[in-house]
Amino acid sequence: MDAVVVGAGVVGLTTAISLAEAGLATRIVTAAPPSATTSVAAGAIWGPVRCGPPERCYAWARTGLGVLSALAGEPPAGVRQLTGREVCTSPKVPPAWTDLLPETRVLGACELPAGFVSGWQYTAPAVNMPAYLAYLLRRYTGLGGSVSAETVTSLASVAAPVVVNCTGTGARTLVPDASLVPVRGQVVVVENPGIGEFYLDHGTGGADYVYVFPHEDVVVLGGTAYEGASDLTPRPEVADRIMRDCAAVFPALRAARVVAERVGLRPVRPTVRLEAETLSDGRVLWHNYGHGGAGVTLSWGCAAELTSAVLAGSR
Ligand SMILES: Cc1cc2nc3c(=O)[nH]c(=O)nc-3n(C[C@H](O)[C@H](O)[C@H](O)COP(=O)(O)OP(=O)(O)OC[C@H]3O[C@@H](n4cnc5c(N)ncnc54)[C@H](O)[C@@H]3O)c2cc1C
Repeated sequence: MDAVVVGAGVVGLTTAISLAEAGLATRIVTAAPPSATTSVAAGAIWGPVRCGPPERCYAWARTGLGVLSALAGEPPAGVRQLTGREVCTSPKVPPAWTDLLPETRVLGACELPAGFVSGWQYTAPAVNMPAYLAYLLRRYTGLGGSVSAETVTSLASVAAPVVVNCTGTGARTLVPDASLVPVRGQVVVVENPGIGEFYLDHGTGGADYVYVFPHEDVVVLGGTAYEGASDLTPRPEVADRIMRDCAAVFPALRAARVVAERVGLRPVRPTVRLEAETLSDGRVLWHNYGHGGAGVTLSWGCAAELTSAVLAGSR
């Protein structure tokens, strides 16, 4: 075994695939399967938000955009190009990363919903997370990778020449890393009543906002960003608020059947931690966590950088 990856969310699976595709013998150990991670609760759309540092995130996001755009041509991956709009109640301009997208356009006043003063439209890869994680898992096991259930209590005790820490918010206690904060997100998944565009309202900057991400037969509705909260049971009052606000934008959602409710804890850190540490016995421990609200977006870029460094170190 050349490397053991700890964690089977989008970051761990992508990293393990990248290492395996580079020819390394790897396995994953994880406390929870992909279907029970934060990753499965993500909306999700490409966009480097709630993450840092900006320059590295921009580069990782660019790599991710290329990979996810290519996967949009492979239906089993659960990725497709989606057009929609972000709208704001204060004057704002599109973030710098939208220049990576070919179809970004600032909305005119007559295109904004009542009460909004700025907004932009773009097309980006949208990811149906349960399908995407299942695809990543198939791709990994197809490369000979294995996944075993195990809660790691000490990264140094994992037996492999290279250990890769992809534990998301688990890193807060495992590393330990007090700079990593869980930011709770709750979503409601409903049958799609015919919505074909995404919608994201930035709200007033508080913990509650509104988004709608259609993935063919279902729509993921959100959202929340409660800093420091880590309870994983969906809160009924939050689900009611999400349904009400989303139905105000798309009235067809009023009668939509709820098929799932999910909660995830975004691993928010001042900066993504992608770096190597040498253990006391000379082995290398890689950290790859703290992707905040952008783990889906950044996962391929971080995995590629990590794999190149691991290969360079083994030469
Ligand atoms: C509601 C919501 C919407 C989001 N929307 C988007 C979006 O639109 N676009 C985007 O790019 N990102 C989005 N995100 C952010 C994205 O989901 C996260 O950044 C990403 O899922 C983090 O992935 P991860 O693999 O690092 O962590 P996780 O998915 O949490 O996986 C961590 C893994 O580590 C394992 N683990 C933890 N501790 C241990 C231990 N001690 N021993 C063994 N295993 C351990 C866990 O069991 C799990 O398998 C969203 C997040 C939420 C919650």
